[in-house]
Amino acid sequence: MTKVNKDKNVRHVLGISGGKDSAALAIYMKSLYPGMDIEFYTCDTGKELDETYQLILNLETYLGVKIRKLYAKTADHDNPFDFYHQVYGGFLPSSNARWCTQKLKIEPFENYIGSTPVISYVGIRGDEEREGYISTKPHVQSIFPFRKNIWSEEVVNQALKNVNTELLYKLYKEFLPSQLFERASEIIKTPLSFTFNLNEKRNLLLNLGSKEFNNVIFQISKGSNLPIALLDDFPLLNNEDVLVRDDIFRILRESGVGVPAYYEEIPYEVNGKTGNYNRSRSGCFFCFFQRKIEWVWLYEQNPTKFFLAMEYEKEGYTWMQDERLEELINPERIKQIKEDFLIKQQTAAKNYRSNKLIDILEAEDEGCAACFI
Ligand code: SF4
Repeated sequence: MTKVNKDKNVRHVLGISGGKDSAALAIYMKSLYPGMDIEFYTCDTGKELDETYQLILNLETYLGVKIRKLYAKTADHDNPFDFYHQVYGGFLPSSNARWCTQKLKIEPFENYIGSTPVISYVGIRGDEEREGYISTKPHVQSIFPFRKNIWSEEVVNQALKNVNTELLYKLYKEFLPSQLFERASEIIKTPLSFTFNLNEKRNLLLNLGSKEFNNVIFQISKGSNLPIALLDDFPLLNNEDVLVRDDIFRILRESGVGVPAYYEEIPYEVNGKTGNYNRSRSGCFFCFFQRKIEWVWLYEQNPTKFFLAMEYEKEGYTWMQDERLEELINPERIKQIKEDFLIKQQTAAKNYRSNKLIDILEAEDEGCAACFI
């Protein structure tokens, strides 16, 4: 069993957003690295879906540990969102003014970790093209175990810069089998330029072997201020797994933790045609990142929560820029939204080879690591 040194005071943390990917990551890390002392936490806005609270309970049973609930600093744990909603004078958050993520997710996390060096495990999958920072504090380092490249962008950028050519050459000679070294040497010695960028260099080196790449990056990081520099060894260096969407659902189902019910597609009828809708992500039930079809889903599948969301729309503040929830639930409007979504699904099936809402949204890349992974 791998023991990762606590003695050097590096904390390993994994945030459970309530979404499928972070839940699967917790299961994956616990089963592959049972000796790692990982702190699991979740930032509770007080407005999560019931399915999210159930997922946390299921995970606690599976992991055999309590998941620490982090709350924003307020007098009322049950209602951190409402507390800040008042502080902001009734102003509802939006993608351009996301006080909710800052106040209810980022700040509680940063208060929790304090100034100790932290390695934060993030569930961005191998089939996604995005970074997922939970915090940009220099003593917090993100690691992405589901990706071929487990390192964050700035770590790789730093390691592969031209000034490190000699060091890269030396380390690759040590770690890479000799039959591959000639190719590695060509890649390393080709300087970064307008015609050969960092991503290309990184991918070419990763394709020669991710274990070797990891070991080289780990050695180079030793001379840095990164939390990982404080470790003697890091068990993920030799992990070559790349996990994609199907793996996530499989992990959740096989572990018994289960997939949150809101991901399940529900058929609907509109103008003689059949479509499917679901909720695509975790987060607050009224999250402004929701698509119109998801608001319709909330109205039809969880009207209590929908009407609670509606109560926030007052004094000119609305969850969507162009429409009030009161207008959205007009039967004709619902029909139109369902019809529009059906067309979008058909187009998406051609463009993204999928008509699922989660695929459509991910292809359009909205949301944030703190709330939806
Ligand atoms: S889920 Fe949405 S509303 Fe809730 S904190 Fe995150 S971004 Fe804000």
